[in-house]
Amino acid sequence: MPEPRVLIVEDNEANLHLMQEVLKPLGYEILVASDGEEGVRLARERLPDLIVMDIQLPKMDGLTATRLIKSTPETCRIPVIAVTAHALLRDKENAQKAGCNDYVTKPLNTRLFREKVRGFLQPSPAPAGKTGS
Ligand code: MN
Repeated sequence: MPEPRVLIVEDNEANLHLMQEVLKPLGYEILVASDGEEGVRLARERLPDLIVMDIQLPKMDGLTATRLIKSTPETCRIPVIAVTAHALLRDKENAQKAGCNDYVTKPLNTRLFREKVRGFLQPSPAPAGKTGS
């Protein structure tokens, strides 16, 4: 099985570097986009298993990019973790409304970030009482 593919959409170089440092040891294939338009394009072309989406991005913000990704049949099932600059309730609600599955805040808590990413990429056990088909 190929390693999971993670798309990071982040325009802040320091934060991008930090995310890569956290995820690389886990063996994931990492794709990078530095603006929202490129993020949507890469999501459609490369179909990652998970997207880490900064909200404040050039050309197209992360909420708009997420809405596009979530309204496209080919990409709508890809989980999106939003990266917000503030821990405000409004930011969380906006991220959820746009279709984000989870969110983390800056400055990045690397341990929490790693756990959330792994949570989305680990195969979930089959529901009890059901056999595979
Ligand atoms: Mn940003």
